[in-house]
Amino acid sequence: MNIIWTRAIVSLALLAALCAAIGAFAGVRVALAFAVLMLVVQGFFVTYHMQRLWRLLEAPVYGEVPSALGIWGEIYYRLHKLAKRWHAQVRQVEQQHARFIQAIQASPNGVAMLDDHDQIEWCNDIAEKHFGLDAKRDLRQHITHLVRNPDFVRYLNAHHYEEMLVMRGMGVHRKYTVSVQVFPYGENRKLVLTQDITELERTDSMRRDFVANVSHELKTPLTVLSGFLETMRELPLDEIDRMRYLDMMEQQASRMQNIVRDLLVLANLEGDMRPPGDELLDMRAVMRHLEDDANSLSSGRHRISFHSDDALTVAGAETEVMSALGNLVTNAVRYTPDGGAIEVSWQRMKDRAVFTVRDSGLGIPAEHIPRLTERFYRVDRSRSRDTGGTGLGLAIVKHVLQRHSAELDVKSEVGRGSTFIVRFPASRTALRKSLAA
Ligand code: ADP
Repeated sequence: MNIIWTRAIVSLALLAALCAAIGAFAGVRVALAFAVLMLVVQGFFVTYHMQRLWRLLEAPVYGEVPSALGIWGEIYYRLHKLAKRWHAQVRQVEQQHARFIQAIQASPNGVAMLDDHDQIEWCNDIAEKHFGLDAKRDLRQHITHLVRNPDFVRYLNAHHYEEMLVMRGMGVHRKYTVSVQVFPYGENRKLVLTQDITELERTDSMRRDFVANVSHELKTPLTVLSGFLETMRELPLDEIDRMRYLDMMEQQASRMQNIVRDLLVLANLEGDMRPPGDELLDMRAVMRHLEDDANSLSSGRHRISFHSDDALTVAGAETEVMSALGNLVTNAVRYTPDGGAIEVSWQRMKDRAVFTVRDSGLGIPAEHIPRLTERFYRVDRSRSRDTGGTGLGLAIVKHVLQRHSAELDVKSEVGRGSTFIVRFPASRTALRKSLAA
């Protein structure tokens, strides 16, 4: 027997005893009237609290325990405890849910959940971006009404989700390439995962282009070389022709050697650690070296001038910087017709070291400038080859400069000449004290 029954029986027993006592002193009628009065009062009391309880259940007020006498106080108190526990559990579940959503939002991949009718139940921001959806507007919509790509519709309906689907031109601006895979779960529900593979595809196609370019660049001199070999074997040649053929073969072999050398330089630059930030270069020696090389390549065909701030230097890898700046200087010589002028300067501008090569050469049409540092990119193929170019010089320059956090700026006008400017960052620029004084 619980407390309610015990209290009810005790109250009734007390009422009966009181009525019996009243009956003995004042008669049966008075006792009955008293009993009826007491039952009516009890009825009001119970009805009042039932109504209070009803209101409380309709609009619970957390944290407040309604005060009441006797068993009703106990009922309110217990109800309040129950509500508090329930409320704490709901908050805990809500917090877990929020953390779960945050974790999925933090994922670099897109996640969309579909119900058993392939309607979108929920999706994260990345999935919104990949599919060009609006999570608020598009919830409960059938996904194929929004993602109408025929490949996707076919993939979703085929129910063979072992392989992923690659979709190109995705997103609002159609700029993403996305891999999509569906994972069924629960009762006919689906989890759709998306991954942005735009960059992956781009590097993959760059790798393919690069392999094709290298093969092509090596194939041309190889074909020429084997042609000469065949000619030499099959034709009876006099000494003069033989020497001429051998010279031409040597040219092709050295062209291949140059390509392989530059490819190795690029491969090393990509694999090496970042150049040191505290080793100052001997820029006086570098500039002297560059001047000697320019003069020997030009053999007096150009007017060449060098101006440099001897105290100015940068921190980095000397061989790399020398090869990058050297490429710019030799290009100026190679792409400037005889009689032209080449000015090279090494100066401090604000707090940055700046290397400038200005030539009065052929110039470069504006549309080519953004692509100059691509591997094997040439504005004029035959001129590059004639002057011994591999098409990799400016790619090497770009890599070296990137590794030193320096920038390359190219200004050019066709027929008037070009200016290549290298700006080293202030963090790598320094003045040699003994020379600066
Ligand atoms: P290359 O070995 O062909 O010279 P680079 O990567 O050094 O390769 O240069 C890429 C292209 O940029 C060259 O083929 C050439 O057309 C153009 N170029 C580079 N420097 C100059 C310059 N100073 N004047 C005119 N064109 C230039």
